[in-house]
Amino acid sequence: MIPFYIAGRPATSTETLTVRHPYDTQVVGETSLATEEQVAEAVAAAATAAAPAAALSAADRAAALDEISTRIKRRSEEFAQLITAENGKPLKWARAEVARAVNTFRWAAEEAKRFSGDLQRLDTDPSAAGRIALIRRAPRGPVLGIAPFNFPLNLVAHKVAPALAVGAPIIVKPAPATPLTALLLGEIMSRLDLPAGMFSVLPIPNDRAAALVADPRLPVVSFTGSGPVGARIRAAVPEKHVTLELGGNAAALICQDWPDLDQAAQRIATFGNYQAGQSCVAVQRVFVHRDHMAAFTPKLIAAVEALKTGDPRDETTDVGPVIDEKAAARIEEWITEATAKGGRILTGGTRDGRTIAPTVLTDVPADAKVCADEVFGPVLVLTEVDSDDAGLKAVDDSAFGLQAGIFTKRLDLAFEAHHRLHVGGVIIGDVPSFRADQMPYGGVKGSGAGREGIASAMDDYTDPKVMVLTGL
Ligand code: NAD
Repeated sequence: MIPFYIAGRPATSTETLTVRHPYDTQVVGETSLATEEQVAEAVAAAATAAAPAAALSAADRAAALDEISTRIKRRSEEFAQLITAENGKPLKWARAEVARAVNTFRWAAEEAKRFSGDLQRLDTDPSAAGRIALIRRAPRGPVLGIAPFNFPLNLVAHKVAPALAVGAPIIVKPAPATPLTALLLGEIMSRLDLPAGMFSVLPIPNDRAAALVADPRLPVVSFTGSGPVGARIRAAVPEKHVTLELGGNAAALICQDWPDLDQAAQRIATFGNYQAGQSCVAVQRVFVHRDHMAAFTPKLIAAVEALKTGDPRDETTDVGPVIDEKAAARIEEWITEATAKGGRILTGGTRDGRTIAPTVLTDVPADAKVCADEVFGPVLVLTEVDSDDAGLKAVDDSAFGLQAGIFTKRLDLAFEAHHRLHVGGVIIGDVPSFRADQMPYGGVKGSGAGREGIASAMDDYTDPKVMVLTGL
């Protein structure tokens, strides 16, 4: 039985949680669910740890973060195998995720050293002559980090690392399908010399998580997951500081000037299907300038058909299963709905258990779920647009707004896209799926509120606290 962590110490309960491989449902491992009493113990410990955590020196915080990074790196292959086993993503993507987590902690160590606050002059008004403001940032208090299944390590890292960097205790609630990776991180952290109560990792059912959300001793909730759950959390605790990193239906636009259709087809095929499309910035909607449509379509189909589907443990697999049977059935249903509304399948469209063949659809009306909602599966919807302007409008015609990928080399068009699109990030010359772990990352509209990315999350986890100095 793999333990979970209460206030840095291993614990178990009699409520077993069995984790199964999404590809063949083999048992990957067993852990247990923290009971209500154990959850209460973790919250009390986090509240008690708030003061000693905030008092940690920058050197201590940075050293702990560096040490976590080093230990993850040392055990990279173990982490990657575990991620593949419980999440079902192909090994190469699991390895990429681990490498990112190593950097995420390393970057947080750097930010912990730089996190100094600000100095602001106030004598811009005569009444404030001789005054300056010293602005320090104080942790708001213990953080509740709720994570999804699709990046079991790096999205947990994006909550734990900034918390540690600012000196805030954190309780991590991993996704029920993928708790073991977070528990391995917990094991690593349990060996560090951190204040008691600095972190807990609690696999718990959703009703216990909802109770944690409501607990006033956890003033910050950092949630990454689906829109409906995010909305419920936001509504449940309007008084709390809540960061919502939600879903999307990310678009790529190939503009008239784009010179390399082979590159665009390759990138879109790869990042529409990586992790079987289970990324909040996986390409879903593809808009192509009409001058390119005839040439681009066969290139995209060929690039998608070249992807190897199968067992994610196989080194050569590109596309593995989706997380469970229910998700696979839903994606299949959405493809059927799209074809019933006039859509045509250019390739794929079939399902074998939990594995969906990488699919390209076209002629799909914008109100079909595969366009309007988040597919979270290996499905691309290809649509011709009459102009770059019409393309930008189409990209923006979405209830979501996470990232967009604009294939152009024109600087004016790049700036126009950046200015016009209602998204958290615009990637010029590539797919919307690019993320560097230090950059501000998050969305607008249905994609959430607030930003992750180490420095942004550190701001989120702290309040500015001003001291005005007089007579200088
Ligand atoms: P989900 O919303 O089903 O679950 C996310 C987490 O919330 C899980 O740990 C779950 O157990 C927990 N949860 C469920 N109900 C809860 C409740 N009532 N109270 C508290 N916690 C509760 O999402 P998922 O299926 O695990 O993840 C996929 C979703 O996450 C997709 O929509 C994807 O786009 C989104 N996502 C967003 C980002 C981003 O950074 N914007 C990154 C990755 C994934």
